[in-house]
Amino acid sequence: MKYVGAHTSATGGVYNAISNAQSIGAKAFALFTKNQRRWDAKPLDTETIDKFKKMLDESGILARHVLPHDSYLINLGHPEEEKRQKSMEAFLDEVQRCELLGLDRLNFHPGSHLKEIDEDECLDRIAEAMNITLDKTSGISLVLENTAGQGSNLGWKFEHLAHIIDKVEDKSRVGVCIDTCHMFTAGYDIRTREAYDVTMAQFENIVGFKYLKGMHINDSKPELGSHVDRHDSIGKGKIGIDAFRFIMNDERMDDIPLILETIDETIWAQEIKLLYSLVD
Ligand SMILES: [Zn+2]
Ligand SMILES: [Zn+2]
Repeated sequence: MKYVGAHTSATGGVYNAISNAQSIGAKAFALFTKNQRRWDAKPLDTETIDKFKKMLDESGILARHVLPHDSYLINLGHPEEEKRQKSMEAFLDEVQRCELLGLDRLNFHPGSHLKEIDEDECLDRIAEAMNITLDKTSGISLVLENTAGQGSNLGWKFEHLAHIIDKVEDKSRVGVCIDTCHMFTAGYDIRTREAYDVTMAQFENIVGFKYLKGMHINDSKPELGSHVDRHDSIGKGKIGIDAFRFIMNDERMDDIPLILETIDETIWAQEIKLLYSLVD
């Protein structure tokens, strides 16, 4: 069974992401639990937490189908120690917010080397930061998102994700989120049956589907291998509709949040229907 939804707005309170998801017929959703472009955030108060839990319960959406996303400012692989510490503090706060809301996973971008340290050093720092965070928290899995490889962002190669996972001590609390647009612009083709099967076999061999804890379902404005991160509406970009049909009929994507981050939120309800219509 597939659980499709979108990254809905939590403006005015985290619980609003739930009603916004319901209003578009979503069976899953993503949200920011704080402003994603700011370092600071006021702590979640008891009233907000209770309201979120009650509304989630009433919505019928399970915690494992909610994929919170952390702040864009956080870089766990930052080459400068002081800035990396700041990121780690903010990351810990993000994980603790998810714990308070009764969720079970947090999606984040691995990090960037900013051309100051080499790739392996940066990946090691990311894994170390994850280990430290895991030690201080419980119940939340840290879900690494593959990136487009724009600038010095790591995580665009499956090998990057595997490198990090290999160094995370508690493998039961690490996961991966595949963003289809990022995967495509990173150079992994999924447009034809053959290409899809090759790419997914690579993912299985290098990372492993047992770590797949969510997906971002986006078409792509840029071309294959362009390393540019620009999403498009489903079927309207360079990936095309077939890839999404393969996904919707692939049982390896069952029971995880499949989240639209497409550019026109006014058609999310239609896109969700479209995706379900692709199931054979
Ligand atoms: Zn993301
Ligand atoms: Zn993106």
